[in-house]
Amino acid sequence: MIQKILMLYPKIPTTYWSFDHALPFIGKKASLPPLGLMTVAAMLPSKYDVRLIDLNIDTLSAADIEEADIVFISAMLVQKHSFEQIVALCKRCERPVVAGGPYPISSHEEIEGVDFFVLDEAELTLPRFLADLEAGRPQSLYRDSGKPDITHTPVPRFDLIDVEAYDSMPLQYSRGCPYNCEFCDIIEMFGRIQRTKTSEQFLRELDAVKASGFRGSVFIVDDNFVGNHRRVKSLLSEIINWQKQNGFPFALFTEASIDLAQDEELLDLMVEAGFNMVFVGIETPDEETLAFTQKRQNLKSPILESVEKIQRRGIEVTGGFIVGFDTDGPDIFDRQIDFIQQAGIPIAMVGLLTALPNTQLWRRLESEGRLKHSTTGNNTHTLATNFIPRMPESDLIDGYKRVLCELYSPRRYFERCLTLLRRLSPQTRSVRSTSWVELKALLLSLLKQGFSSYGMLYWRYVFSVIATRPRLFPDAMALAIKGFHFFAITGEIDAADRFLTRISEARHRFQLRVDRIMHTRKRRLAVSLERSILGMMSEVKASYGDFSTGVQMHLQQTIADFTQRCQAWVAKLRLVHGVS
Ligand code: SF4
Repeated sequence: MIQKILMLYPKIPTTYWSFDHALPFIGKKASLPPLGLMTVAAMLPSKYDVRLIDLNIDTLSAADIEEADIVFISAMLVQKHSFEQIVALCKRCERPVVAGGPYPISSHEEIEGVDFFVLDEAELTLPRFLADLEAGRPQSLYRDSGKPDITHTPVPRFDLIDVEAYDSMPLQYSRGCPYNCEFCDIIEMFGRIQRTKTSEQFLRELDAVKASGFRGSVFIVDDNFVGNHRRVKSLLSEIINWQKQNGFPFALFTEASIDLAQDEELLDLMVEAGFNMVFVGIETPDEETLAFTQKRQNLKSPILESVEKIQRRGIEVTGGFIVGFDTDGPDIFDRQIDFIQQAGIPIAMVGLLTALPNTQLWRRLESEGRLKHSTTGNNTHTLATNFIPRMPESDLIDGYKRVLCELYSPRRYFERCLTLLRRLSPQTRSVRSTSWVELKALLLSLLKQGFSSYGMLYWRYVFSVIATRPRLFPDAMALAIKGFHFFAITGEIDAADRFLTRISEARHRFQLRVDRIMHTRKRRLAVSLERSILGMMSEVKASYGDFSTGVQMHLQQTIADFTQRCQAWVAKLRLVHGVS
């Protein structure tokens, strides 16, 4: 009989979003806990004993799995590698695996080792699976394309996690988005009619976060929080009252479409409710591309003006940008850089266009015969596209690398921070007192960044903030610390790319030389080439060890292939020179 359920959340590799290099400054292990699993846990009948391990903050042992009767895993595409490792471990421990979440939803046909796929929205498929499980006849696949009412979705189980290990707590108010961007998988999963929770329900969730003891930032994870202006305004009025009654324990941030800037009342309410940051999918400054990719909501008014308007209310804008659209010309890279600098968006997530499975973009490219392979879901670390772009691919990758290196050079980054800080109004910005954790982070930043290779630029930034925006000093330092992550990760991406190029060139070179020696069978050359190959293998191993674990995950497969190939060459060469 099933009694003990172990929920596992796979490791997320280092990405721009992971903030791996910045989290140690504030003594945190991960940005966010797994909201999906915490919500599924709350849907389970109380007779089940549930434990949750997030591999981003804890280690997992075989004993943890063997203690459980069944294992539930939820993953995004970007967690694929860790997901596969966990499934393999569960198989070795002979425990059945249940999988759900965005990665299994889009790719379940290709995934091996999972016993039961419980896909789509858990409100519909989980009860059916549990009933079958209890009846002793569970099916291998549960799907439902319906869009459930989420007003009965329970409060996530914050008691299952160590809230202190995380930087922010996630909550969800709505699912679905009314827009129709061609590359978007959200509307494929959750539909284009936005469904919301009730205000009372959302306040109960805020109560639960407060009761967990957590204080700090709450991320409302909706893909477009402002998809329904009327409803969200009513919720915001309730949040304002709640924050006042509870002494404003949380700063809030979310994702929203740019039309937020056109609604003054909505902006006022968000500021009053304690929102200090919003992520906006800007994608590109090119109007033709916005129309082509069906992001027409970004054409309603000039984007730069909209961004500035939000910033002047006291809300930082972070933005998503994409290069690689069919309509992108060779000037797109400079245009993106100029736009992002002018907009004063320090945290600009620029990615290569990726065709996610089951999106309109995927279907179009498939019909045009331009799809290459499935994606890792990490559109910044993987310097390749999963489709044939219109622009020569090498131009696209080179241009993209230039955008990243330029934007996340300390000089350009601090310039953007200062533009933003000049616009943020200290009057409307929710100015909070500085905690001990922030003071410690500040000291660490002064030591680590102040005496780094970009120390001069850092000090110039610090003194400029003190002189012009002293009340925003805590915000300025938080941005500097995030910069530490961005500088590190950009350097890693660049180094990893150069490393991969070196391997690819060596592979090509060795292959030619092995072929020639197999033809001429010259012993002396075989001995010398074997020495070069073995030398390269140990060099590759040493360089690989220098990368962070997050980057190593991206390189693992290439290294394994290269090592295997080297071993095969060495075996062949030994047949020629006769030494084993
Ligand atoms: S606005 Fe965002 S969530 Fe909505 S369709 Fe476009 S990309 Fe998707």
